[in-house]
Amino acid sequence: VIMARKFFVGGNWKCNGTTEEVKKLVTVLNEAEVPSEDVVEVVVSPPFVFLPLVKSLLRPDFQVAAQNCWVRKGGAFTGEVSAEMLVNLNVPWVILGHSERRALLNESNEFVADKVSYALSVGLKVIACIGETLEQRESGDTVAVVAAQTKAIAEKVSNWTNVVLAYEPVWAIGTGKVATPAQAQEVHFELRKWLHDNVSAEVAASTRIIYGGSVNGANCKELASQPDVDGFLVGGASLKPEFVDIIKSAT
Ligand code: PGA
Repeated sequence: VIMARKFFVGGNWKCNGTTEEVKKLVTVLNEAEVPSEDVVEVVVSPPFVFLPLVKSLLRPDFQVAAQNCWVRKGGAFTGEVSAEMLVNLNVPWVILGHSERRALLNESNEFVADKVSYALSVGLKVIACIGETLEQRESGDTVAVVAAQTKAIAEKVSNWTNVVLAYEPVWAIGTGKVATPAQAQEVHFELRKWLHDNVSAEVAASTRIIYGGSVNGANCKELASQPDVDGFLVGGASLKPEFVDIIKSAT
């Protein structure tokens, strides 16, 4: 039996917020009327330092994610946060391979894949991010790029149950330039086909592939209606009350 893919909405707060702003945002989320957790999985991702605060205040039907973790067991790695620490804090999810980290911190496909594999091995669930640059899209390499990013992960992961794949075209992140519903659907379709041909029919059918890049309250509905778009990873709009409208696009 193939499990239906539950709609997934992630809020990536990136490197933003003060204690007061975080409390306000959580209050907005806690007061929101949204579809039940049987219909939509909502995961917000504050910076590490706010994770315990957010966990303590956030409604129980929403979950939290870290924005990164270390590639292997913790130890003498100054400045890093280990996957074990997230488990210890009961943080269920982690975002890995975000394009900002790939670009600014030189995280390679292999390094991201190692992180995904290690995080899964200690029991975390992973939002694994992939996506092409504008230059790669314009030279017709989009599918090859996202397939290579996915292949690196597939080579190190055998159980995809706890993986959500986030397709985030780099040119759409934080730019206000959202992919059209057709552009998103095309890549999501190709990714699902890649999973079908290279992993298994079951993994292709059950893995959530979510879209990220300038998703907002106005464009979410049409994107959500695409057959292979199983949810969103939201940056800028996840810091605003309109995040609630994006959660509602699940139905
Ligand atoms: P954005 O960011 O919604 O601000 O474009 C998305 C992301 O980086 O996950």
